[in-house]
Amino acid sequence: MDFDALFNAQLDALKHDGNYRVFAELERTCGQFPRAVNHGDGAPEVTVWCSNDYLGMGQNSAVTTAMKDAIDTCGAGAGGTRNISGTNRHHVALEAELADLHGKESALLFTSGYVSNWAALSTLGSRLPNAVILSDALNHASMIEGMRQSRADKVIWKHNDPEDLNRKLAQLDPDRPKIVAFESVYSMDGDICPMKEIVEVAEAHGAMTYLDEVHGVGLYGPRGGGVSEREGLADRITLIEGTLGKAFGVMGGYVTGSAAMCDFIRSFASGFIFTTALPPAVAAAATTSIRHLKTSNVERLRQRAQVAKLRARLDRLGIPHLDNPSHIIPVMIGDPVKCRMISDILMDTYGIYVQPINYPTVPKGTERLRLTPGPLHSDADIEHLAQALGQLWSQCALSRAVA
Ligand SMILES: *Cc1c(COP(=O)(O)O)cnc(C)c1O
Repeated sequence: MDFDALFNAQLDALKHDGNYRVFAELERTCGQFPRAVNHGDGAPEVTVWCSNDYLGMGQNSAVTTAMKDAIDTCGAGAGGTRNISGTNRHHVALEAELADLHGKESALLFTSGYVSNWAALSTLGSRLPNAVILSDALNHASMIEGMRQSRADKVIWKHNDPEDLNRKLAQLDPDRPKIVAFESVYSMDGDICPMKEIVEVAEAHGAMTYLDEVHGVGLYGPRGGGVSEREGLADRITLIEGTLGKAFGVMGGYVTGSAAMCDFIRSFASGFIFTTALPPAVAAAATTSIRHLKTSNVERLRQRAQVAKLRARLDRLGIPHLDNPSHIIPVMIGDPVKCRMISDILMDTYGIYVQPINYPTVPKGTERLRLTPGPLHSDADIEHLAQALGQLWSQCALSRAVA
């Protein structure tokens, strides 16, 4: 059997549709973010405009020092699963820090945000007897995979629509355990959920709430506890899930909630139990990053200022972008081939790196460039990007937004 021919047939279909993924080979330059050396085609040095290291914490000197110090004291790896020799005091300290961040009794650390969603939802959905999960239509792949793995009944409610959620909850047997799963900031459109309304609907039906705050933590709320902190709703949400790999600039994922719930997931989640613990140095760096952002607002304020400047600049040029209340600026292209082409020209001609976002990450016809301005982008960086996009919009005959 010619397996490679089978593989290549499907890869060719991706290429034909313009959805084949090509990675930019970069070397992020510590101390110079958002600058990076480009080892692939295009300009040898680029400005990164699509990073999820939203606040540049990946190069924060307290964070990198904590990581180096922990390597010097604890070595490179954890040496085992959490159960079998792998629990280091740095993991325990990080879990305490995370519980405090969200005002919860307890927290549980995972190797990534993807794994935390997958493991927590699959465990809750499969172990709560006769559970049903009510999932926002635009939930992240990691949640979808967790729900699938759980084999629990799943009901999809209209994106960010508490009334639809209410209708769907009302149709269910009041005695069944119900889990309402949703996100605070949706990564691709940058919209923010009506959290209070969702929580109230869930409470009225006795459902637990499962909130993915991956694109909120570090960025929103006075201590970086996410949109749930900003809205004063964290204590009404049953489970808050987050990542250490985006605004916190390191790696790892977690869930927080009651002591009993975290102990339950710790005791039954395959994706927690049967995998090597994160390196202690990663945990130490993440703890330092969280602590820093609990008290420092300068990164958040400067990020907001740069986001506002870029939005205003795009508006003046008539470059169409989704209006939303977050830090994410989706510039809409609506065609996978054009999206890739614009991204390539930006990289080759302007030294601007922004990855095209195509299907299946977003629906077909909504292909886009997802811009994430941060505190380390200068005003000159913003001007350079705006002018480049302005020129490309003319050259490629792309439609402009009507002012
Ligand atoms: C990135 C992402 C995750 C996964 O987090 P990682 O730490 O990168 O694995 C989970 N949920 C959402 C909404 C995400 O965008």
